[in-house]
Amino acid sequence: MRQKIVAGNWKMNKNLQEGLELAKEIDKLVSGLTNDVKVILAPPFTHITEVKKAVGSKISVSSQNCAAEVSGAYTGEVSASMIKSTGAEYAIIGHSERRQYYGETDAILLKKVKLALANGLKPIFCIGEVLEERESGKHFDVVKSQIVNGVFELTAEEFKNVVLAYEPVWAIGTGKTASSDQAQEMHKFIRETVAAKYGQAVADDTSILYGGSCKASNAKELFANPDVDGGLIGGAALVAAEFLGIITAF
Ligand code: PEP
Repeated sequence: MRQKIVAGNWKMNKNLQEGLELAKEIDKLVSGLTNDVKVILAPPFTHITEVKKAVGSKISVSSQNCAAEVSGAYTGEVSASMIKSTGAEYAIIGHSERRQYYGETDAILLKKVKLALANGLKPIFCIGEVLEERESGKHFDVVKSQIVNGVFELTAEEFKNVVLAYEPVWAIGTGKTASSDQAQEMHKFIRETVAAKYGQAVADDTSILYGGSCKASNAKELFANPDVDGGLIGGAALVAAEFLGIITAF
């Protein structure tokens, strides 16, 4: 049975004190829940250690990125091994903002995915098309190529630790959510793509999250789809009550 997941990507928001306050507030709300949803917080690197200490066992912690190199003279970078040593369990890799603003190519992302796995971190691997690609009907090809180039070099055993997050770039931070049908159509395609490579059993166990202007008011409809296993949440993850509304939307 694949895991239902709601992950909050804080991006470059909240200083350490504000972040800890938010993490503790979310932890308090989540500790009373009896559902089977895995909750993940992805604060900035500077906060990970403290956030991990501040939350209970119901919440896992993720980085928002990791370096593409093992260690050494890479000023400003944070390695997968360093992230793992904080107690984090996940690493978001390939977010569209990293691809777009920091030139992260498929080849770089594959290196990051491999390093994350080698260090015991589970990659939350992001894929998704820009508006122009959707409007010209290329969205399935784009997403397939991101998956093939980013994670299909992995063995099936390695791939079992990967979470996929479909985030149409035109929906991220825009308030424009993919419709429930658009999300299901793409998630089904992604699962079929995984099944063709690794077999149906692996595909059935793969969590595929939706991301892009997901909030408490639309999460229920999105999560009701058979192939949508949860969400990667940006803006709405910065408000504890709103984030809780998404976690309880299944
Ligand atoms: C994201 O950045 O992963 C995201 C989905 O952002 P938002 O929810 O703000 O659209």
